[in-house]
This record gives sequence, C-alpha cells and structure tokens, in this order.
Amino acid sequence: MTQADILFRNAHILTMDEKMTQYNRGAVAVTGDSIAAVGPEDEIKKEYSGKETIDCKGKILMPGMVNAHTHVPMTLLRGIADDLRLDVWLQGYMWPVERQFASPEFVRLGTSIACAELIKSGVTTFNDMYFYEDDVATATAQAGMRGVCGQSILKFPTPDAASYEDAMEKARDYIKKWKGHPLIVPSIAPHAPYTTTADILRETADLAKEFDIPLHTHLAETSFEVDNMRNENGMPVIPYVKKQGLLEAKVIAAHCVHIDVGEIRSLHHAGAGVSHNPSSNLKLASGFAPVVKMLETGLNVGIGTDGPASNNDLDMFEEVRLAAFIAKAVTNDPTSLPAPQALLMATRLGAQALHIGHLTGSLTPNRRADLILVDLSPTHNSPSFRRSADNAYAQIVYASKSTDVTDVMINGKWVMRDRKLLTLDEGELLAEAADIAKKIDSFLVEREQSVLSKLIALGGSTEEESFEVQIKVKIGEPDPIIQALMRNEMDILYERHYRQHDAYFFFDDESQGRLRYREDDFVDQGNLTKTRSRLTLIGQKREGQFEHEVLLSRSRFLAPATNSLRFYREYFKPVTEVTIEKDRLRWFIKYKDTEFYINLDNVLTPALGYFLEIKSRTWSRKDADNKAHLVNELLELLGASSAAAETRDYLEMIQS
Ligand SMILES: [Zn+2]
Repeated sequence: MTQADILFRNAHILTMDEKMTQYNRGAVAVTGDSIAAVGPEDEIKKEYSGKETIDCKGKILMPGMVNAHTHVPMTLLRGIADDLRLDVWLQGYMWPVERQFASPEFVRLGTSIACAELIKSGVTTFNDMYFYEDDVATATAQAGMRGVCGQSILKFPTPDAASYEDAMEKARDYIKKWKGHPLIVPSIAPHAPYTTTADILRETADLAKEFDIPLHTHLAETSFEVDNMRNENGMPVIPYVKKQGLLEAKVIAAHCVHIDVGEIRSLHHAGAGVSHNPSSNLKLASGFAPVVKMLETGLNVGIGTDGPASNNDLDMFEEVRLAAFIAKAVTNDPTSLPAPQALLMATRLGAQALHIGHLTGSLTPNRRADLILVDLSPTHNSPSFRRSADNAYAQIVYASKSTDVTDVMINGKWVMRDRKLLTLDEGELLAEAADIAKKIDSFLVEREQSVLSKLIALGGSTEEESFEVQIKVKIGEPDPIIQALMRNEMDILYERHYRQHDAYFFFDDESQGRLRYREDDFVDQGNLTKTRSRLTLIGQKREGQFEHEVLLSRSRFLAPATNSLRFYREYFKPVTEVTIEKDRLRWFIKYKDTEFYINLDNVLTPALGYFLEIKSRTWSRKDADNKAHLVNELLELLGASSAAAETRDYLEMIQS
C-alpha cells in the first residue's frame, strides 16, 4: 500500500487525457505537487491510502481550466471605456491610462484580484502578457497559481521601459530570475506585428530560443491589421512573422481571427499554439476565428478570455460555452465543436498551446495536481443523465456556472476550499482597487474637458505653437497670378502640387478651438503619390488684424496624424464636421529676404473656385507688423490687391 498525501474518492472524473477517459466513481491520489494515480475508486483504493481523504460526493473532478490569453493586471481597468473600436479603445483610453498609472504596485494588485477571480472560476493556469511582468509573476506565485507570464516588448516607450533596447535587457533579467520556478514559466511577449518591428520580432524569437521559453504575441486580430500588413509588406500576417523567424520559437498566438488555410498550416507546421478568445472578438467585433479548421488541421487551440478590459471578465466557463456556440453558428452546423472538444480546448489543448502540456491540462500520473471540483447539483444543472459519455461534458460546457466550482488545487496545494479563497484576501484587494478607480476616473474627467489634453493624451505628438501672418483672397482666373509670380523680385525656392483633403472638427465649446485633420496627396505629373496626414488644433481667436484683412493666426498644436480620420472622429466626438477639398499649387518663395508660402487653391468641395493665400511664419509682434506689410506688397505685385476686400464672405464659408 502506497501512502499518498491526498486521496480524492467518490468523484466523477473527467481526465481529459488522450483517450478522454472518465471514471465514475473514480479516485485520484496526489503526492507532493503531482498526481500519483487516477482510476476507478476500487482499484486506486487497493493501492493507495491517503494521509487525507476527500469525499467528493459525486462532484465532477477535472483538470483546472487553462486561460490561454489574458492581461491579468487589467482587472483594475475593467469597465473603464467600452463600446469602442479597438484602435480608439487602445490608443484613446488604455495606453494613456497605463502610461499614467501602471506601476509595479498597480500590476501586483491587478494580478492578485485576477487570481482571486480566476481561482473562483476554476482556472488553475493562465497565460499573461503585460508590463512589469516580474510583478505579475510575483503576485501569481503568491496566490499559488500557475502562470506563463510574458514580458511585453513594444516599439514605443512603455510604462516599464524607456526604449525597446531597455525592454529587452529587462526581459532577459526577468527570464533568468524565473526560469525553473515551480509555478511560473517566464515568456517573452512582442505585443503584435503592428506595435513592434521586424527586428523586435527576430530578437524576441532569438531570446525565446536561447532560454527555451514560450513567445506570446497577438496575431491577425482584425482585418484592418491584415489589410495594413498587405499594403506595407505585400503579404498577410503569418508569412510576415515567419519571414522574421518568429515561428522558430515556441509561439503562442492570440486571436488568429483573419488567417487562411495556408497560414493555419504554417502555424501547425511550426508547432505554434493558438488562443481563441471568443468574448473579446465578439465585443470588439474583430470577426470569427476559423477555429474548426484550425482544430481539423491539428493545431493546439486553447481558449482565452483576453484582458478583463475587453471582455469584461475572466470567466472561462462562459468562454468555453461561447466558443462552442460561435463555432456552430459560423459553420452553420450544430455538430461543430461539440462539448467534449470545447472542454478539451479549455484544458489539455490549452496547456499544449502554451507549450506546458507536460505539466498540466489533464489528470494523468506525473502531471502536476492542478484540479477542480464542480458541483452539478444546482437547479440550473439538474437532473444529470449518464446514458452517454458526452453527458457530463455537456453539463460542464452548456449548463455549469463558474460559481459551481467548489474547490481548487494547484500544484498539489489547496487555493480554494468550499468556495473560500485560501491565499488571497478579496475584501482588502477590492478596497484598494476602488481607490485606484477613483483616481483614474478623475484623470479621465480632467482629460476629457479639453480637446488639447485629449490630443496630448494620444502621445507621440509634439506641442508647437505656431503663429502665421496670412491673407486669403478670392480670385477669378489663376493664370495672371501664376504669370505675375514669375517676376524677378520673387525668388522661387520650390514648387509643389497637391490634392488636399481637410476635415474640420467643431466642438460645442468654441474656446476649445477647432481641430483640422489634413491629408495631402502629392500630385506628380498628374499622378497621386505619397500621402501625408496631420492634425492641427487651431485656436478660435484671431490674435491680430492688419490692413487689407491680413491676419495673425495661431495654431496651438501640431501633430502627425498616424490614425485614420474615422479614429479621430470617434475619439474626439465633434458636434459638427466640415469637409473641404482643394487642388493646391504651392510656391515657397523669398521676397526681400523673407520667406513666404504662396498657395493657389482651387476649392472643389464646396465648389468655391480659386483662392490666393500668402503666408509666413512669425515669432514676434514687430516681425508680424513687418511681414504684414510685405504681404500687402506681394498682393499688389500679384495683381490681387483689389480682390482682398470682397473676400470676407467666402472666408467665413470656409472657416466657420
Ligand atoms: Zn490580448
């Protein structure tokens, strides 16, 4: 007779092993951190006695769930901004708040709260990606949970790294520190192809290979990402990352929503794991991952909740049920993704996708003792049929709630008994979270008060006050102006031709100014070439006025527009928007040692005809006076001074 530490008896066991063996009634013997034996109760009891024996009272005893993709510290950002598109949500809310608040303490608290939620819903292992991953790992190990913890690498500065080189160095130290830990598997997490570079993908893959650790990333989440990838690199996402050597590492790819059969084969060939995240894909309208095709090809596809800010919970029971339902709806076939297979994704396949199938995911001798008890007796799950082997899986996938999980053991240690958490104090954690929520709320309230602060919050822009002396006049025919421009007094430094699309955003409060989104398509011998996009916040008040309608105007803030017009519209929420399209000939000239821009615009939308604009940057009132004088001289030389007085009406049509 062998003595085990704990003997579980009187259980309905779903082993989730290769043969999907069930034992009812079954028993499991646990010794130290591992499973010593699993089998029919009669047989196990002949061989094992337990220092402690647990009567499972007919409950389901199964492997703990594996949450294959999440960002656990984001429990602190749950519900902060919802019903937004991915880019607006990420760049408009998540990143600015993370820049301001993410810290080691923030990350530990968020992780501890996530661990409480995960344990209570029967999850024993999760796969994470965030900043300060050392603190995620610390809090996870303290909670007694198993985690594959991925240190994020991005091409921009992040809350925990000033540069990507800095991030790589820290990641190396982090990996060395945790490699070999009984609960934590450190990993490296280049965030996504669109937030990294080819070099980052290559170097992170090399690091993952060097330490033989998983590499966690987001791939092909949206069709927008795939379209951009095709435009910029002439290929879809999987071939692109393969080209950078990424697939040589033990990859865990989150999402893979927009991939084709060839890409699925590539991932399979590389032994990559995939995390399917149904709630996140539904909430962000990212599309439907070809899960059934991936499984048919033999890919290890797990199920993940994604971060609690895009879900908004970490409930794997809900996620498994959704995965099964969506697969049926998408294939128009109710036999697709049956309950046993769905539950397999949430357990053994998930562990294999994380490249830790040898440690967890099934109740098999020598695997770690990561297991849960689920009570099937509540009203919402009664009665129980046992005619078919699939009945029990269907009960778990289609009717069980996460609150039916009564007991959780991880690595041979209890972390929840009878729904009472043993390693975490929820009350204390939630009080701290409420404090942080208050601070984040006031940060966002303050930011939302001004267009300028919202613009700054996007990051990557430079504040630049720019003053211009300018005049704009309506003219008849452009040819006489062009001929006059060729006069000797004007030294033409260069000439440009472009098509200009402007969208002006107006806000309720006029003192906010108006925001202009401008796209310039350069016209080169009749062909449109590269486009340049800029955002300019234009002060509402004109600063000064000179003779002949010469104005001193002020732009408060200039920024490259790296996002789409749609993004800015959804982010800034203007009350009205005016679109102006024009064909612009621009000359940059020198007149009396002073530089001027001369723009000859054909305003096409609205159809207002030709305008002449003369302007020059200026820095002081004295300089402005001098330049205003020169502007009038130029107007005279171009034969357009008589047009100035008639112009105001047109100007108002354009500028109001
Ligand atoms: Zn994610």
